[in-house]
Amino acid sequence: MDQVECVVVGAGVVGLAIARELALKGREVVVLEAEGAIGTHTSSRNSEVIHAGIYYPAGSLKADFCVRGRQRLYEYAEAHGIKHNRCGKIIVATTPEQEPQLAAILAAGQTNGVTDLTPIPLAKAREMEPEVRCVAALHSPSTGIIDSHGLMLAFQGEAEDHGAMLAFHTPIARAEVTADGFRVTTGGDAPTTLGCRILVNAAGLTAPDVARMIDGYDAALAPDAYYARGVYFTLIGATPFRRLVYPIPERAGLGIHVTLDLGGRARFGPDVEWIDGIDYRFDEGRAAKFYDAIRTYWPGLKDGQLSPGYTGIRPKISGPNDPAADFMIQGPESHGVPGLVHLFGIESPGLTSSLSIGETVGGMLADV
Ligand SMILES: Cc1cc2nc3c(=O)[nH]c(=O)nc-3n(C[C@H](O)[C@H](O)[C@H](O)COP(=O)(O)OP(=O)(O)OC[C@H]3O[C@@H](n4cnc5c(N)ncnc54)[C@H](O)[C@@H]3O)c2cc1C
Repeated sequence: MDQVECVVVGAGVVGLAIARELALKGREVVVLEAEGAIGTHTSSRNSEVIHAGIYYPAGSLKADFCVRGRQRLYEYAEAHGIKHNRCGKIIVATTPEQEPQLAAILAAGQTNGVTDLTPIPLAKAREMEPEVRCVAALHSPSTGIIDSHGLMLAFQGEAEDHGAMLAFHTPIARAEVTADGFRVTTGGDAPTTLGCRILVNAAGLTAPDVARMIDGYDAALAPDAYYARGVYFTLIGATPFRRLVYPIPERAGLGIHVTLDLGGRARFGPDVEWIDGIDYRFDEGRAAKFYDAIRTYWPGLKDGQLSPGYTGIRPKISGPNDPAADFMIQGPESHGVPGLVHLFGIESPGLTSSLSIGETVGGMLADV
């Protein structure tokens, strides 16, 4: 049986950030990836927004990782030549009834340490985004966008430069806890068995399933997985927006917002649809809802201007009627298995948080 020091399951942005961190610390790393390429699931099906850290409950991992991770991500993108744009965003209330929610968002952002989030006068909002209609607005200058694939390539490159290996088409099939670590069995075309001392489960949507595959880990500690799909429509024609525009958040999502890609094209989404499994099918029937939602803040949207884009699925660990769950990073102090870390429920702002999550997981495993 081949022996390695660390196995990371999953080559999405989080698994790659952790692999990079471990490799930079001089550890021997193999990344097992079920698909044939990096980042084919949630990490390439999102809004590509560098979030400021505004919305999350005070003291939550989401707030902490996002605020720290955003700063780290801008520095990293600068240093590694990854395309990004600190374009900023406005958050708008479109009715007087929404103004208290806007005030609550401002307070939450300030509590989380987002010091540059400010209310702006209506005249200023109109000057910044002439086509947007609102009754009140906040401006977040430190929100931006990033080329998420470029970011993952940079993580992969750095990890490989420090000796990490990526094995594609290599799903983990099962694992067991042994006296000195783990025995990991892979499926795919060339099944094999691998011994390791450290096992990190960054399997995204299927992380709870992967956890339950591990003989010797108490499966009752793995949360249930829930899936909340969101669709994106792209705008046909020139974008009138100079920055991102967000409405008041909805339950389980941030609301159908405007995001821009690095070429300046606008897309709208994601909405929230609870589904039973991993299913990326695009339901074009959702367009009517999008037209209505977008026109609350952009009445200039014309019929026929929305074109189907893509879908993404939030890896939730709380259901539609539960309070929203925080990120869950489950290490030996919770489950008692040395060298084992699970990452559950890494939905938004997981892309923004990826570097800080990588650093935290690296720190959790420093003494193993
Ligand atoms: C609609 C949507 C919008 C979002 N927008 C933003 C945003 O604007 N900003 C932001 O910061 N965050 C955003 N996020 C969150 C962000 O995209 C995720 O937090 C992040 O991509 C999660 O990365 P990951 O590596 O954990 O998961 P993934 O990218 O899903 O990677 C997991 C990997 O594990 C692999 N895998 C699964 N099972 C196995 C197995 N058995 N064996 C081997 N490999 C396996 C998969 O193939 C996959 O490659 C958004 C998420 C969604 C759904």
